[in-house]
Amino acid sequence: MTSETTTGTGPAATGDPAATGRPTASGAGDRIRSVTLSSVVLPLPTAISDAKVLAGRQRPMTEVVLLFAEIRSEQGLEGIGFSYSKRAGGPAQYAHAKEVADLLIGEDPSAIPRLYERLLWAGASVGRSGLATQALAALDIALWDMKAKRASLPLAGLLGAHRGSVRTYNTSGGFLNAPLEEVRENAARSLDAGIGGIKIKVGHPDAAVDRARVSAVRETIGPDTPLMVDANQQWDRTTALRMGRWLEPFDLVWIEEPLDAYDVEGHKHLADTLDTPIATGEMLASVAEHVRLIDARACDIIQPDAPRVGGITQFLRLAALADHAGLQLAPHFAMEIHLHLAAAYPREPWVEHFDWLDPLFEQRLETKDGRMLVPERPGLGITLSERCRALTRDTVTLGR
Ligand SMILES: [Mg+2]
Repeated sequence: MTSETTTGTGPAATGDPAATGRPTASGAGDRIRSVTLSSVVLPLPTAISDAKVLAGRQRPMTEVVLLFAEIRSEQGLEGIGFSYSKRAGGPAQYAHAKEVADLLIGEDPSAIPRLYERLLWAGASVGRSGLATQALAALDIALWDMKAKRASLPLAGLLGAHRGSVRTYNTSGGFLNAPLEEVRENAARSLDAGIGGIKIKVGHPDAAVDRARVSAVRETIGPDTPLMVDANQQWDRTTALRMGRWLEPFDLVWIEEPLDAYDVEGHKHLADTLDTPIATGEMLASVAEHVRLIDARACDIIQPDAPRVGGITQFLRLAALADHAGLQLAPHFAMEIHLHLAAAYPREPWVEHFDWLDPLFEQRLETKDGRMLVPERPGLGITLSERCRALTRDTVTLGR
């Protein structure tokens, strides 16, 4: 720490390095030179339906919209981060990021929590959760990527990894739009590829369809392969309890989102009543929302999503709380980011295998013996592909 003191009022009095011109404690004298933001529209090979679509609440999903941030420093380092949206919100995330990202120019890129605060308060009138912070997530993740690269470590290593690989399960093969035979083939293919578990979607308006699909998939993969189901919030409390009791003999790893994401009391009742673990949290859009779930011990397995809760800085706060509460961790989607975060969680976690974003990156994550291997490359270990550039709808560079 420096022995200098500051006098007067305003930012200098609080030690704001932008005002004092001093480097922060974490800095190596480096500064952020530019921020490039891009809005990328990735079409999906098939229109996707889960229980929300069959319940008439959403249209089938045909594309994912991503917000990429590429941050460059004076010393020549680069960090890449991304956030995403499904069905709506992509242009708004991009617009919000564009409005605040210039606050980063000239700043120490390693001072991530301080920079996050600046960005957060700049947009605080539209909220410190949800879309506003999802726009910040891409910037926050890019700063973490750069910090790990500066240390020449994979992000998991920078965070203090507990393991070099994480148990992984496939989701993309088990959606409700896929006929049963296709789901069975997808499951077999995933297991052949070294993915350890299989998750299938349930929550069909006709419960008999769910029962038939769960029975058939369990038969296909055998009794020892980890199996999960995901109702995407579409059961009511009575249906969730009845289905939960029917599912008990299938020895599931978890039942995911049996109820509305905000029904803390309902989830707690299920978690207390059923032997099968209850998992939820992917739809929550801030640490504060997760705290309600954690404080109530309303689930056994928490499923935060770093881009959705505002980035890695926020994810780490809630992961510490979840660990303290004794919860298991299985982050939602975005395996390129969550593999690193799961590797750094003290309790043995799961990471969700989704190959949807593969076309956007030059690298592929390796799966072997049921686990996803943390890449040895520094940072997140991703670079954007030519296809990603070709799918870019809009881009802007702030700084120089
Ligand atoms: Mg889910």
